[in-house]
Amino acid sequence: MIELTSQAEKALELLENSGFEAFVVGGFVRDCVMQRHCNDVDITTNAFPEEIKECFSSFKTIDTGIKHGTVTVLIDEIPIEITTYRSDGVYSDNRHPESISFCKSLKEDVSRRDFTINALAYSRKAGIVDYFGGVKDIENKTIRAIGDPEKRFREDALRILRAIRFSSVLGFEIEEKTKCAIHQLKNLICNISVERIAVEMKRLLCGKNVKNVMLEYFDVFQLVCPELSGMKGFDQRNFHHKFDIWEHTAVVVENAPSVDYLRLTALFHDCGKVDTFSLDKNGVGHFYSHASVSAEKAETALRRLKFDNFTVSRVKTLVKIHDTPLEESETYLKKRLSKLGYNVLKELISVQRADTLGLADEFHSRKEHFDCLEEMIEKIILQGQCFSIKDLAVDGNDLIEIGFRGKAIGEALAFLLEAVIGEKVENQKESLINYLKREE
Ligand code: ATP
Ligand code: MG
Repeated sequence: MIELTSQAEKALELLENSGFEAFVVGGFVRDCVMQRHCNDVDITTNAFPEEIKECFSSFKTIDTGIKHGTVTVLIDEIPIEITTYRSDGVYSDNRHPESISFCKSLKEDVSRRDFTINALAYSRKAGIVDYFGGVKDIENKTIRAIGDPEKRFREDALRILRAIRFSSVLGFEIEEKTKCAIHQLKNLICNISVERIAVEMKRLLCGKNVKNVMLEYFDVFQLVCPELSGMKGFDQRNFHHKFDIWEHTAVVVENAPSVDYLRLTALFHDCGKVDTFSLDKNGVGHFYSHASVSAEKAETALRRLKFDNFTVSRVKTLVKIHDTPLEESETYLKKRLSKLGYNVLKELISVQRADTLGLADEFHSRKEHFDCLEEMIEKIILQGQCFSIKDLAVDGNDLIEIGFRGKAIGEALAFLLEAVIGEKVENQKESLINYLKREE
């Protein structure tokens, strides 16, 4: 059932031939049992780091975490992490054990791991070693902490986010006691570095089960991003919507492409609704300017979590324009392409597509609208139509030749682009120059 990579086979064989125990462990075994692809091979062994290095003396080794017992070995250029059996000492900061110690048995080693599904080990000699019922939990699609969940989350609060991430990515339910401990101890997440939180959040949002996880763990989301506060249970009082803001958001996230910044866009797109709600005289709810408010809140949240600049700026842009209606007209779309660029425009459409799926059922038919927009854009691109200054048949030098200087050059190019997009003039050098002269 478990098919090891040739490099993992080789590593186990070398260790075993030197008289050590060695097992592939953790995520790789879990993913194999689930028949999912996994590149990351972790090996656990009773050999000490120096002994590991001796076994692999003819290979390149890197002292990745030698203090913690981890040596990385490159076999056919593929890195394999080999770690000495270890147990963790006391945890004082909800994240890092104060000490670690090497231990004698595989069982002790796997006991320190987070969830039963991550505590499986395998070697060809021993087969699957499953001390905590991990295989059964995989079959039942269950995430279950090893031992007392409260104790395990107090030791390392990152496990709270890992549990939710695995639930989202694998589509598993979190077992009841583990789930209760998450709700109860979520505040410990504040002890985790924002960088680690951001990594987990990105992976979690890209999971196939993200909607259910968002509905179940709103309290955790709100803790990590207070910008999302108030969304749950907020009745939109508007016929477009059958869901409250958070339920709507969960549907939109799940339907957005599984790309982290697009899922983040979906997560934040309506968070400003809470701040901009108004009721008209007919008792209908409105959220004027909510997109701009959402964009500001998204930026605040993403900066705090130290997301990279690309993510912050792209999410901000997309959130800000998420509700701009797009017209099914070539001229209009060329203007949009010129302003936003191909990628952003396509992404905007994907977000809007997801957004409509979170509306009341009668509005889902807008699918044809987005198909049509996408087709038109592809046609514009395929025909090599002009929608940016660099597509113009003249450039700055041509304008200098006819007497333009400084700022006027850029302005003239922008003016020409608009004219070409508006089909007022052909994108052809002579016509453009004549057009400019005529309009001067
Ligand atoms: P993935 O690589 O998909 O994130 P993984 O389970 O392999 O999943 P890693 O972070 O690569 O996760 O960790 C490898 C193994 O180390 C895990 O399977 C688990 O056994 C153990 N582990 C990782 N993080 C923790 C933690 N915070 N607490 C306890 N055990 C952990
Ligand atoms: Mg892994």
